[in-house]
Amino acid sequence: KRYVDFCNSWGASILGHAPTAATSAVSRAAKRGMSFGTPTEQELLLAQVIQKAFPSMQKMRFVSSGTEAVMSAIRVARAATQRETLVKFSGCYHGHADSLLVKAGSGVLTLSMPDSAGIPAALAQRTRVLPYNDMDAIKDLFRREGQSIAAVIVEPIAANMGLVPPRPGFLEELRTLTSQFGALLIFDEVISGFRVSFGGAQTLYKVTPDLTCLGKIVGGGLPLAVYGGRRDIMEWVAPLGPVYQAGTLSGNPVAVAAGLAVLNSLRSKSPYKALEALTEKFCVQLEKIAQNHGHAIRVNRLGSMWTLFFNNAPVVDLTSVQRSSASVYAAFFQALLERGVYLPPSPFETAFMTTSHTGGILKKALKEIDKVMKKLPSHG
Ligand code: PLP
Repeated sequence: KRYVDFCNSWGASILGHAPTAATSAVSRAAKRGMSFGTPTEQELLLAQVIQKAFPSMQKMRFVSSGTEAVMSAIRVARAATQRETLVKFSGCYHGHADSLLVKAGSGVLTLSMPDSAGIPAALAQRTRVLPYNDMDAIKDLFRREGQSIAAVIVEPIAANMGLVPPRPGFLEELRTLTSQFGALLIFDEVISGFRVSFGGAQTLYKVTPDLTCLGKIVGGGLPLAVYGGRRDIMEWVAPLGPVYQAGTLSGNPVAVAAGLAVLNSLRSKSPYKALEALTEKFCVQLEKIAQNHGHAIRVNRLGSMWTLFFNNAPVVDLTSVQRSSASVYAAFFQALLERGVYLPPSPFETAFMTTSHTGGILKKALKEIDKVMKKLPSHG
């Protein structure tokens, strides 16, 4: 059975499932050696490409997953500031490290278990959770606890409660407050990195974080992620500094080859404007179809990312996300799956376009969406 895929490995694929540039590079790299446990020249080349795209990453470390990148960045932030409190936003997901499974998004939100079992209370208590896009809440927290905050971690474009872009000024406010109180600003660009522009959200919004985490696209579809940032902070990592972090498969040569091939292709072809135009056209059609069948929906869209919410009010944070009808989304998802269109299987996830979504494929998807919307129950 064939599907039109809008999930695309949760955003990891941007050039389709098996781009030739990547599969050939992977095959060549695998023949040279699957793993050495020591750095290779390709790893340095990849680091250079990343640094050009993200100049704020003056030093970086490769790891094998987004979870590992975020977990390590937080450890460094806590060490470098000599503080323990971490601030995150409800509905943002940063992987499954203990400190971060507090009011998290993505799968844990879908399963209604945003506070996972097995997390020591003492650790969870060190994490403060605020509403996304709420400037008053963050100002208030800094006024009360600013001196003990090690870092604020944020998805600069929230994509794990469905897509929720930042309000104008929100990221700038986070930058100002963290600098003022000596806390660090961590951008989790595991999704937005190389997705919304080659230089991620920090280039798009011109806000420079202290630390950045990248994953998904950077590994070209294989397990690879990276964290990095200001030189003085990254030098806390061993062997230069006292923060330990290591991994046998970190910078694995086969994963590096995939990442390098995909990034080189993105750099030379720069598909971002075309992807955005494609997404806009698709989403406008989607809204028209919903309107024709009397369904009140909201489509949040940014670059090549979009989410359809069965909601008749603006969706700007987790509270408004949760006002959307999950049961209508479930019926919509199931009916489309049966017709060969694979959306994210949760109302709390983002759909992704790739360069493989040609006009014909999208037309087919819209035709099926039209048929499904026609029969969908109303959600009031
Ligand atoms: N950070 C963000 C923003 C993510 O979306 C994810 C995964 O979806 C992660 C971190 C964790 O990455 P991984 O699944 O590679 O551990």
